[in-house]
Amino acid sequence: MLFSTRRSDYLKFDPYSFAPTYKMADREEETRKRCSSAPTNGLQSTPEKKPCLTNRDENKKREDYLEWSEYFMAIAFLSAQRSKDPNSQVGACIVNQENKIVGIGYNGMPNGCNDDFLPWRRVAENKLDTKYPYVCHAELNAILNKNSADVKNCTIYVALFPCNECAKLIIQSGIREVIFVSDKYHDIPEMVASRKLLDMAGVKYRQFQPKSKQIVIDFAAIDGKPPNPLKSIASP
Ligand SMILES: [Zn+2]
Repeated sequence: MLFSTRRSDYLKFDPYSFAPTYKMADREEETRKRCSSAPTNGLQSTPEKKPCLTNRDENKKREDYLEWSEYFMAIAFLSAQRSKDPNSQVGACIVNQENKIVGIGYNGMPNGCNDDFLPWRRVAENKLDTKYPYVCHAELNAILNKNSADVKNCTIYVALFPCNECAKLIIQSGIREVIFVSDKYHDIPEMVASRKLLDMAGVKYRQFQPKSKQIVIDFAAIDGKPPNPLKSIASP
């Protein structure tokens, strides 16, 4: 599940990659129906290059642009692709009240600690042989990577509901809202404790409800080139 680290001309953000099934983006499907023989500037294009003139008024702004929340969550997911964790790639994006990004992070080993010499496995007889005592979560890195004086009253977009340790950091840093995609560990003690802390501290949290199920980054689109056969970095 989640993503491989394979390089490709395409990067596909899929907020539902945590879910058992997912489909082609609603927006892409709509766009394809509307402009079945023409490229669109962004999310999907086809081999023919003539512009879609039938339903697009060139004098009007695009309507299929990303909403802020989709944009920030996509950045969190894209950042996760920097992670070297073979099992779990999580990204986080912190946004202030002016919709400006003030911090980005992904899960990884601490700075200066060679990640070739630290374990990445999840299970071992000795906990010291697992990643857990060493790895920094995405939320921690996003908070510490902040490019502003603080992250008070900010919102954090994160792929997974934060664990209890990250909940402590979120609370102490003054973040006021958590927007997450997956809550797949809902019942483990760390998540129960996390919700308890967030509730007590009055930090709001809610699940992300994207309009599109996927966002595809097509590096060829800027030149109007037809895409290569779709290679997704999201694995089933
Ligand atoms: Zn955490």
